[in-house]
Amino acid sequence: MLKWARAILTILAALAFWPAPSGHAAQQTEIRVGVLAYLGAEEAESAWEPTLAYLNATLPGYHFTMVAGSLAFLTSAVAAHSLDFLITNPGHYLELKIDYSASALATEQDLDGFPSSESVGAAIIALNRRSDLQHLTDLRARKLAAVAPDAFGYRAATRELLERGIDPNKDAFPVFVGYPASGVLDVLRAGRADAGIIRACLLEKLVAEGKAGPDEFRVLGRKPTDLPICQVSTRLYPGWAFVAVAQTPAPLAEAVAAALHAMQPGPGDRIWTEPDDYQSVQDLYRTIKAGPYAPFTRLGMADLLWPYRYGAALIGMAALWWIAHVIRVAYIIRKRTRELEEAHELARLKDVQMEHAMRLSLMGEMASSLAHEINQPLAAILSYARGCERRLARGEDVDGVREAIGRIAIQAERAGDIVRRMREFVRKNPARQEPLEPAAVFRDALALFEPSAAAHELRVDAEVPESLPPVVADRLQIEEVTLNLLQNALEAVDGQPEKSIRFVVAREGAAIVATVSDNGPGLAPGARERLFEAFYTTKPGGLGLGLSLSRSIVEAHGGRLSVDENTQRGTTFRFYLPIAPKSAQENAQENAPEIAPGIAHV
Ligand code: ADP
Repeated sequence: MLKWARAILTILAALAFWPAPSGHAAQQTEIRVGVLAYLGAEEAESAWEPTLAYLNATLPGYHFTMVAGSLAFLTSAVAAHSLDFLITNPGHYLELKIDYSASALATEQDLDGFPSSESVGAAIIALNRRSDLQHLTDLRARKLAAVAPDAFGYRAATRELLERGIDPNKDAFPVFVGYPASGVLDVLRAGRADAGIIRACLLEKLVAEGKAGPDEFRVLGRKPTDLPICQVSTRLYPGWAFVAVAQTPAPLAEAVAAALHAMQPGPGDRIWTEPDDYQSVQDLYRTIKAGPYAPFTRLGMADLLWPYRYGAALIGMAALWWIAHVIRVAYIIRKRTRELEEAHELARLKDVQMEHAMRLSLMGEMASSLAHEINQPLAAILSYARGCERRLARGEDVDGVREAIGRIAIQAERAGDIVRRMREFVRKNPARQEPLEPAAVFRDALALFEPSAAAHELRVDAEVPESLPPVVADRLQIEEVTLNLLQNALEAVDGQPEKSIRFVVAREGAAIVATVSDNGPGLAPGARERLFEAFYTTKPGGLGLGLSLSRSIVEAHGGRLSVDENTQRGTTFRFYLPIAPKSAQENAQENAPEIAPGIAHV
């Protein structure tokens, strides 16, 4: 009696404090009640419609509407604050309580069924004809059909199986069929699973409705119950909960709770009692380590990648192929580079040999005149020596002899100079670029060439200023280019009535330019385009290598070699060498005394 009085008082209080409830539907506050639809939305609606109709009638200021959905749907609706109340199974309530501070206002009780604290459980069923399945222990390594891994019935059954040493997730093969739960029976009939887990009393309900044969299924591991209306395989847990979410205003929650507790049993024979503490559900979840007690699984790299294993394998294969390809390309590149370097080295050696050969050939051409040139000081030395002998035999004064010996020394120096230049020129030195005084280099080349010119009754008209800035160059190579151009000029003017060769060195901007011009017959027809090609020659005994080698030497020095036909007669060759940078010029000055000519050690 006290209970009723308290309920009526609470409802009156809610009506007084809650805003603007009136008889007008338009001014009613809409209240959304989520209901778990384990048998489908329609079943859920018909099961809970009497409760909602009752609330609408009892609390006229509010309009209670039903939102049916799955566990996941309802949980996300709670998270999104789009529900005020829920009617859900005990397990789900426990999760909502822990995760969203939801609270149970009432616990459902089926008057024909078990007491409210023991009204929900699960039946583990198999087709009756499966005589091989008698006990729960027979379910090891079997296919177990259930609605979903988070369905309350599956969790309740898990506890029972675990106690018999069977972890359904590891020691059996779960087959989740989704809602509605009657699908579990269909899976068993189709032979796609050996046993199925359903909510207790569902089998009896389906049999009563004619949706399952009375002897079609058997419940395994039956537990004795006080009210054996339904067969169960698991412990029993409190009934479903009418839950208020954390945001629901307290006066409204209290009014709803009071109304529910005052609800009379209707056609569905359901009533709502004081909320259970749901401790047994908490024990269940703790025992099977589910829901809020699920171990915090640390996801390893392998777990994260597992769903993408095929893609990852493909990417892995592609990566392997790519690495192999890169290694192969790198190997080929290294091999080719080595081959190229070898080829370059070979070509360089050939160039060096060819250049040396050309120098020897140039020297060959000049040899007779040089020999003649050396002969002159030697003849002079001989005649001075004889003169000295004679004077000494005649007992003449030593002054005359001293003077003759001085002349002998001068002539010996001259001959020594010629031999030094020849030796240096034909020596097989590796190319070596160093800061050089251009005047010294060109003077040496001219001195080597002079005897050949003399032999052809010709004087080279030379202009080589002393104060030219230094160049960084290979001494022998520059001498070789100069001598080659002079030799070509000599061959061009040979046989001409008036022979003239001019050799001028000057500074032109940042370069030293050496010009060799002759008054020969000029270039042969068609020669201009081919002059610098290797083996191009118009001479009977010519090699055709001089100009091509000279051009590569000059270009290797950063300069260039060009040809022009004179307006009057003959041809002019010019080659440019860049002036050395400042630092190299200082070196050249330091080296200058060493370059000065002296007596060669012959
Ligand atoms: P070679 O002197 O052995 O022929 P070069 O490469 O030195 O080889 O010269 C190639 C050709 O260039 C010569 O055969 C000649 O036709 C032409 N040539 C070179 N210098 C002159 C020059 N001063 N006057 C005319 N023709 C020249």
